[in-house]
Amino acid sequence: MRLLIVEDEKRLALSLARGLTAEGFAVDVVHDGVDGLHRAGEGGYDLVILDIMLPGMNGYRVCAALRAAGHDVPILMLTAKDGEYDEAEGLDTGADDYLTKPFSYVVLVARVKALLRRRRAAGVSPVRVVGDLKVDTAARRVFLGEDEVTLTAKEFSVLEQLVVRAGQVVSKADILEHVWDFAYEGDPNIVEVYVSTLRRKLGAGLIKTVRGAGYRLEKR
Ligand code: CA
Repeated sequence: MRLLIVEDEKRLALSLARGLTAEGFAVDVVHDGVDGLHRAGEGGYDLVILDIMLPGMNGYRVCAALRAAGHDVPILMLTAKDGEYDEAEGLDTGADDYLTKPFSYVVLVARVKALLRRRRAAGVSPVRVVGDLKVDTAARRVFLGEDEVTLTAKEFSVLEQLVVRAGQVVSKADILEHVWDFAYEGDPNIVEVYVSTLRRKLGAGLIKTVRGAGYRLEKR
């Protein structure tokens, strides 16, 4: 699950990003409305956390522009307590939910998860089955036959990228981008490390290496 945070209060943005990353989300952060619209408009996000008072372009306009362009990504608006937010206006521009600052982090995470659940309920089943592998992307649980396999948050996220595109080649760059974030500057070979751990935990024959292209998860 990939989230975008559009928030100009850098400390708040950073602490939200840290917390949500620890929950297993891949999180990107931008600090102004124009960048926010640009990034969110590229697609590829499962949810956008959008502040209202932003330099460049305010959150209402970002939200309205995304909806006008046909993007249906869930949007959670953040607002200050001083009444800058007009709930009716926010919902009019197409926001799915809003949260008034200062909010508790626990409440934010609960709202984020509720929006993602609501979205899933409207769409495809969260459970992917490939041969003896069963991955519940909502509960974040993995089974081999009847036996549950315990994965770390990052291991699960790498597996999720492969299983939602089972049968297709997924490049290392793609996995990096979705599981880590666009600012990740470490060694891209970290993906190999996670894939070899997954192979150890899930057994051989499930995750194939496609030379020069990436990985493909398929029924063994
Ligand atoms: Ca702001």
